[in-house]
Amino acid sequence: GREWHLAARPVGRPVPSDFALVEAPVRQPGPGEVLVRNAYLSVDPYMRGRMNDVKSYVPPFAIGAPMDGGAVGYVVASAAEGFEVGDAVLHGLGWREYATLPAAQGVKVDPALAPLSYYLGVLGMPGLTAYAGLLEVASFKEGDTVFVSGAAGAVGSLVGQIARLKGAARVVGSAGSAEKVATLTGSYGFDAAFNYKDAPVAEQLAAAAPEGIDVYFDNVGGDHLEAAIGALNPHGRVTLCGAIAQYNETSAPAGPRNLALAIGKRLNLRGMLVRDHAALQPQFVAEVAGWLKDGSLRYDETVVKGVENTAEAFLGLLRGDNTGKMVVEL
Ligand code: NDP
Repeated sequence: GREWHLAARPVGRPVPSDFALVEAPVRQPGPGEVLVRNAYLSVDPYMRGRMNDVKSYVPPFAIGAPMDGGAVGYVVASAAEGFEVGDAVLHGLGWREYATLPAAQGVKVDPALAPLSYYLGVLGMPGLTAYAGLLEVASFKEGDTVFVSGAAGAVGSLVGQIARLKGAARVVGSAGSAEKVATLTGSYGFDAAFNYKDAPVAEQLAAAAPEGIDVYFDNVGGDHLEAAIGALNPHGRVTLCGAIAQYNETSAPAGPRNLALAIGKRLNLRGMLVRDHAALQPQFVAEVAGWLKDGSLRYDETVVKGVENTAEAFLGLLRGDNTGKMVVEL
């Protein structure tokens, strides 16, 4: 089977030569293990951080070794009780065609309930990030005006729609193209949206939310965070979820220059990691699956075909090629 190795540590924006597709033997499962043929691979922004040799909340990828990440696939051989050939499994050995893993590290999922790829997105890690980040971390309440950046992406598109479904007074989003902005106000039902490349974020946010905002869900950092601090109403709440604007930067960014405003406004700025919110999983799946079923929540995917295009899919994610979740279909 083919698997992707990190060939070199990217400096700044990654390039194709930082990755290598390698043929490797497929190991048959030992006791307690399963062999999975992957059907969908996830590429996610946090993987950029793992390409740097720095200590973080997930260990770095090693040079010349297979990369990993979220994946779903079908069991093709099993030496584990309770796992049969044909079972669909969500697990962490992505970036490859075949994965041999302890069955305990996989979760069986039901392909009859939702398309298999949804377990990498709306019903998986990005979905829980949106749900927990808005409802738990930002303590969203009915009547809030919510601003979310990266709003046409996997997490952001769900944050905006969950806010709408939970009774936000106004939902505002930013994204990087006119097409994405049209999708936000069209199919996702945002009240206002803007292209952050058109004009300064602070100006566009002030126009889109003239009464200010109560919650900012930050996927981007930088000028977006600074603009949000300026626009937040007293006692406003910020979920610090991601800072994708700086993932490819080689020097530390200047902080939000207006951070001192957080004092007088008594803002609450809270970082989050989705793994702390596993307790919300059953409630999250039940509620989000219900919205998907009754059509009140729209979910888009950008599907890249072929394991050989995984690195390109990841580069495309960083460029903003995706609307909704970027996944690779094998
Ligand atoms: P997305 O689907 O949102 O894809 C990434 C998007 O980022 C691109 O589509 C692109 O859209 C946008 N982008 C790229 N560069 C820039 C830039 N310089 N400025 C503004 N936008 C940019 O990814 P996810 O939904 O998976 O992740 C969204 C964020 O959430 C990321 O920051 C990620 O790290 C974070 N995250 C955090 C978790 C946690 O536990 N804290 C868990 C999961 C995700 P555009 O065309 O709009 O530029």
